[in-house]
Amino acid sequence: MKALIMGGGMSGLATAINLLDLGVEVELIEADEILGGRASSWKDEDGDMIDNALHVFFPYYVNLLRFFDRMGIADNILWKKSEFAYMLPGGKPAVMRFTDLPAPLHAAAAFLPMLKDYKAIPRWKMLFGGLTLSRALMYSQSTIDGLDDITFSQWAERLAPRGCLKQMEPGVNGLTFTPSSMISAKVMLNWIRKVFASTGTAKVGFANGGLGDIWVGTCLDYIKKKGGKVELKKAVTAIAVKNGKVDSVTVNGRQKRRADLYVSAIGPFAMRKVLPEEAFTYTYFQDLLHFTMAPSLSLQVWFDRSLTDIETTIFSNDCIFNTYADLANVLPHIFKGGTMFEMVLSPADHILGLPDEVIFNTAIGQIRELFPSARDAHVRKYKVVRERQGVYRALPGMERHRPYQRSPYTNLYLTGDYTKTHVSSGGMEAAIWNANRCAEIIAQDKLGKQITLNTEFQPDTGLIPYIRLGLGAALVWAGFRLLRCLRR
Ligand SMILES: Cc1cc2nc3c(=O)[nH]c(=O)nc-3n(C[C@H](O)[C@H](O)[C@H](O)COP(=O)(O)OP(=O)(O)OC[C@H]3O[C@@H](n4cnc5c(N)ncnc54)[C@H](O)[C@@H]3O)c2cc1C
Repeated sequence: MKALIMGGGMSGLATAINLLDLGVEVELIEADEILGGRASSWKDEDGDMIDNALHVFFPYYVNLLRFFDRMGIADNILWKKSEFAYMLPGGKPAVMRFTDLPAPLHAAAAFLPMLKDYKAIPRWKMLFGGLTLSRALMYSQSTIDGLDDITFSQWAERLAPRGCLKQMEPGVNGLTFTPSSMISAKVMLNWIRKVFASTGTAKVGFANGGLGDIWVGTCLDYIKKKGGKVELKKAVTAIAVKNGKVDSVTVNGRQKRRADLYVSAIGPFAMRKVLPEEAFTYTYFQDLLHFTMAPSLSLQVWFDRSLTDIETTIFSNDCIFNTYADLANVLPHIFKGGTMFEMVLSPADHILGLPDEVIFNTAIGQIRELFPSARDAHVRKYKVVRERQGVYRALPGMERHRPYQRSPYTNLYLTGDYTKTHVSSGGMEAAIWNANRCAEIIAQDKLGKQITLNTEFQPDTGLIPYIRLGLGAALVWAGFRLLRCLRR
């Protein structure tokens, strides 16, 4: 049995590996000149490493970690301490540092210094914000799943004043490239519940090297060793269907390719361009038309000196960038010399059309406000990365439009971070989870095998079940007291 996989990003390569392990013959075609899709990197003309964008890994990426383990590359993720830094104008950061207390005490203890040091909103608003976030930690998964029809701001403002979660805004923008006033509450609450579940999960891992270097080559070697074929610069330009099945795929507008089964690992925007018109008579494919792009840009800036000693993710409000890291501190064995900031610029809808120079000038002005030592520093060079940017905009209600991996065409399967999964609205864990799910379904449909590749993240619940029980008991007690009062 031969599978043609369209797209060589993380989901496409992981699907290829899964199918080869099942004994399926694999041919993978990628439109770009490099593999890895959005999780890729390359060298520029000076030999400097350019990441497609700053990518962080979270401990809740249990399926990605298992996949990396399977490939023997788990050590290529460099885990940092359980802390997040907020850089405020003037160079003094507010740090959220998690210590080994049971949940939710660990979060409360990490939040207290923020109350003192984070000056972007008044303290009373911060307090409301903290209480609002602690509600999220108490939610069950089903409560969170039920919150896909409102925005994160609407959810927060149900009980707290407007702007009380300003400290969350850079993280919301950095993760989803969408402001709180537009992003689905479910998406952010899901993330908060997983990341802030315990001290062990409230940290990030960085690629120990170029983002693509840490995983793409190993996956490619594995595929080739198992007899799989991979071709670059081969764009799918049309998919032809006949009698409810994919009949062939056209590559680069000319060549026809045929296989027993086809896997689309290309994004929803590319997919809807290559499907035949008749596909859109199915609600399943009509759903692809609901996806809109949340664009981002990536900026790398090399300085001639060190501007900070922060070794983890940095957040800043009210800037063109929101989430960034000084890779000279994160990976000192690779980036020697001065600070090298890798910065996510999002939401980028309003800056996409600006020339690189204008974008850089805005960013450098803001960097100098935040890091006074940058005022005397010399910028050795900068790069604005525009290719392979963006995710789909996870607006309220979008969850129901994410397609399942099994399509109405009996030999076509879909994967990619945007396809249906409960793990997140996108990101590398979703890309791997969906690649696993896709292979599980193909094994069942085409090989008559039941296999389980995915596993569930189990958050450490700490004291939360007891607190829930206590709150429940207090409510029942209050109810009885009220009844007794009413009877009198
Ligand atoms: C700026 C930025 C920052 C991010 N940060 C993080 C992060 O910190 N943590 C995290 O977990 N995730 C992050 N992500 C998301 C992460 O990169 C993606 O979730 C993941 O790489 C998606 O993999 P994929 O295989 O689903 O899609 P892609 O990587 O998009 O792969 C799709 C592939 O299909 C190819 N293709 C497209 N059209 C065709 C065609 N017609 N024919 C053949 N091939 C085609 C593309 O070239 C591409 O290689 C970030 C993304 C961006 C853009």
